[in-house]
Amino acid sequence: HIFGAARMNSAGTNLNIQAQRDPFIAEVNSFNQKQWHATGLINGKPVSGDAKPVFNPANTEEKVGSVVRVTKAQAEEALSIAYRAQEGWNATPAERRAAILDKIADLFEQHKYELIAICGREAGKTLQDGIDEVREAVDFCRYYAERARLEFAKPLALPGPTGERNELFLDGRGVFACIAPWNFPLAIFTGQVVAALVAGNSVLAKPANQTCLIAHRAVELMLQAGVPGEVLHFLPGSGAELSPVLTEDPRIAGVAFTGSTETAWTINRSLASRRAQIAALIAETGGQNAMIVDSSALPEQVVADVIRSAFVSAGQRCSALRVLYLQEEIAERVIEVLRGAMAELVLGNPLDHKTDIGPVIDAAAKKDLETHIQNMRATKKLLAEGKLPADANKGHFLAPIAFEIDNINDLKQENFGPVAHIIRYKSDDLDKVIDSINAYGYGLTIGIHTRNEATADYIAKRARVGNVYINRNQVGAVVGVQPFGGQGLSGTGPKAGGPHYLHRFATERTVSNNI
Ligand code: GLU
Repeated sequence: HIFGAARMNSAGTNLNIQAQRDPFIAEVNSFNQKQWHATGLINGKPVSGDAKPVFNPANTEEKVGSVVRVTKAQAEEALSIAYRAQEGWNATPAERRAAILDKIADLFEQHKYELIAICGREAGKTLQDGIDEVREAVDFCRYYAERARLEFAKPLALPGPTGERNELFLDGRGVFACIAPWNFPLAIFTGQVVAALVAGNSVLAKPANQTCLIAHRAVELMLQAGVPGEVLHFLPGSGAELSPVLTEDPRIAGVAFTGSTETAWTINRSLASRRAQIAALIAETGGQNAMIVDSSALPEQVVADVIRSAFVSAGQRCSALRVLYLQEEIAERVIEVLRGAMAELVLGNPLDHKTDIGPVIDAAAKKDLETHIQNMRATKKLLAEGKLPADANKGHFLAPIAFEIDNINDLKQENFGPVAHIIRYKSDDLDKVIDSINAYGYGLTIGIHTRNEATADYIAKRARVGNVYINRNQVGAVVGVQPFGGQGLSGTGPKAGGPHYLHRFATERTVSNNI
């Protein structure tokens, strides 16, 4: 490795080992009473205005902090500053920008207990999800720092006739708007922002409305690590109010967005309607992700992976399993084991280590899911249902549930929560199954369970998805190990945590010098 020790992904905490768990929980609990106050940050300075309270989705009477959002005029001011500052930032050596990312990673690790506590109390993330969230954010920083050192520090020398020097440079595009989701409010928020920054862009960072506290804390640490205030502005606020700045202003050079396909279309339309620079759009959107289980699979292993893929994080991952295809010979057995496993799942306070599943993010999300579940109850067969916690009414809890449906087309939309849909198929119909998954149009993840390698290879080649997982669960892509992102209705690529991600944040400049 040319830069000394090879980069390693960050270390975790094993909550199954009491000697690791007890001190860990004590540290996280020390933030149980804390109130966080987030504000927009423009040019490194907090904006003032009305503070709106933030409540815990697991206990809606518990206030966690407050947020002062930015107005459209303030966002415009941020854009002007970011626009002026980008040239200088792009001229900063890539090594310096990469070093700042490494420093951000170090600060995130130093503050991990607080970050995990905010993820739990603001976003309903369990301790394990919080650990994974911080690790992924840290890994994004170090991974993109490494990629920038490899690809942005020096131009690529190209062959040419004698006497001519040909070089290919990578530069930032300009001002990037980074629009983040609430389901990975630290990891994806950070991944977008640090990728844009290290590639030489200035950034307007808009967090999801549900998760401004964690994003604000992340930006404070980014500024502390040395990101200049004029190149990174934090813009909590309403999408409708800020979209003229984030996606319509001619000075925007690119948008990195993770969220719904519907919103990605809207952003794409507003970027395209400008008589201005043709902007880059990096969209990572939803999925109607399937798992195909043939009769050679091991039911116990299948069920463990279904539980993790469909229900952990309350099913609020775009990678999550939604449609489980069971070959009919094995279906009854898998459903029986699944029923038992779902009955064991513990819902509750996400920061209690016994909790497997926390709440869904807010009342609106719960209501949409309840409507879907009512529909399913009325028209389909209920196969299994988990248990709500005793004090479920304190928060936005939904018990994991599984229905039998006939066809993937019975689902009219992505249902972003702990709801699994099971379809039995005949072995002769494998091609029809793959065809219908492909025809549905999303293309994010697929799970395959089989002990027949030829079957696994066949499905893996035919499924038009971004991430294929064989004989394991289909969530929790690891930075630099499983570059993550889909195709079709699921997004544009390039893959987060993959070697090509930074390129979309950059322009290429060829310089031919007849010396
Ligand atoms: N990268 C996450 C995973 O592999 C999913 C990201 C998302 O839900 O947006 O589970």
